[in-house]
Amino acid sequence: MARLGALVCCLLAAWHCRPGFGLPLAPAGAGPAVGQFWHVTDFHLDPTYHITDDHTKVCASSKGAKASDPGPFGDVMCDSPYRLIFSALDFIKNSGQKVSFMIWTGDSPPHVPVLELSTDKVINVIANLTTTIQRLFPNLQVFPALGNHDYWPQDQLPVVTSKVYNAVANLWKPWLTEEAITTLRKGGFYTQKVSNNPKLRIISLNTNLYYGPNSMTLNQTDPANQFEWLENTLNLSQQNKEKVYIIAHVPVGYLPFAKGIPAMRQCHNEKLIDIFRKYSDIIAGQFYGHTHRDSIMVLSDKKGKPVNSLFVAPAVTPVRSVLERLTNNPGVRLFQYDPRDYKLLDMLQYYLNLTDANIKGESNWKLEYNLTQAYDIEDLQPKSLYKLAKQFAIQESEQFIKYYKYFFVSYDSSVICQGKCKIFQICAIMNLDVISYTDCLRQYHMKHSL
Ligand SMILES: [Zn+2]
Ligand SMILES: [Zn+2]
Repeated sequence: MARLGALVCCLLAAWHCRPGFGLPLAPAGAGPAVGQFWHVTDFHLDPTYHITDDHTKVCASSKGAKASDPGPFGDVMCDSPYRLIFSALDFIKNSGQKVSFMIWTGDSPPHVPVLELSTDKVINVIANLTTTIQRLFPNLQVFPALGNHDYWPQDQLPVVTSKVYNAVANLWKPWLTEEAITTLRKGGFYTQKVSNNPKLRIISLNTNLYYGPNSMTLNQTDPANQFEWLENTLNLSQQNKEKVYIIAHVPVGYLPFAKGIPAMRQCHNEKLIDIFRKYSDIIAGQFYGHTHRDSIMVLSDKKGKPVNSLFVAPAVTPVRSVLERLTNNPGVRLFQYDPRDYKLLDMLQYYLNLTDANIKGESNWKLEYNLTQAYDIEDLQPKSLYKLAKQFAIQESEQFIKYYKYFFVSYDSSVICQGKCKIFQICAIMNLDVISYTDCLRQYHMKHSL
């Protein structure tokens, strides 16, 4: 939801081994050399999408604006038709990749005016997509996280149990333990170990509780006691010598396309950053959605040493608002990790060229890039990403030109990001807390206009 509406909300909020393809074969009995998992996010299904001559009536999510060039796989003025979402999941199913699990970081319903949805409609959309995933992947463990659109009215996720929390707890039962289901019902978050990876724990946070437009949690220091629960969970995990992947919808840190706007409320962002720094030795990766764009972040400790790698995945929906020129092509991604210590090794970003798919009438999902190969880095460790971000900062950096093209999932290869645009991107990649972020802007002589 990186659209202008979201930006306005965020402004308000501010106040207060390179395997490449497939699994490499390991010696018999040694187990796989590389573990893998998929990350999908921001499907935003628009059930009203249909091709018609009147382009103002193609989809409710264009809110009366003309669709741009509607085809069977969607349109940039619209949220996803079911066919687009199915093509993404069908591509994953037929990719031949062997994975241990999938993460799904929320936002299933469309961007439409509040009165066009209801609690039941929101639940129906989530149920529709859950069933689709369960039918296509009957044996795959999926770890979902709730998004700010996975509620009615949107953004207002509560700190106590609700019809939506109960509904998703029932829908997601096949994937989760009894304990996970219990906290999901209460506050929309949970933790669970990965079945075939005994020392790997997923923590699925409900960061929508920290999202600026959520009036249910205004002025609350610890909505739903999630911070306390998170610290306790990380503490126990540390004692048990586990590694943790954090998954959530709204990311921590600053929006890379805006100046000085954290994705969540600043006070909650600071608290989360504190916790992540404290437990950075056991957090092996963090995965988010929500901005609809492809970006990375590196969390450093207070002394400036990089300690955590964070990844924001682009959306499946290609939707943009009338006021935006650019948007993203639909994307899904595959992560590779070392199954011995769960360190992240690589990420493969796949995408659909929406224009081509609509012209040909068939979906040709392709590899967009492989992270280590695209940037010639060793792995996805904080040190490697930090070094890369330093290279981005160099003037005319070829690496950064690539990064900015991928930011929009290759929607427009001629995009240029210089001057302020580049400063905001670089500062957001490397600085997640208010002090270091402000310092970063200051370094670039932008302190007076903050
Ligand atoms: Zn979204
Ligand atoms: Zn969102």
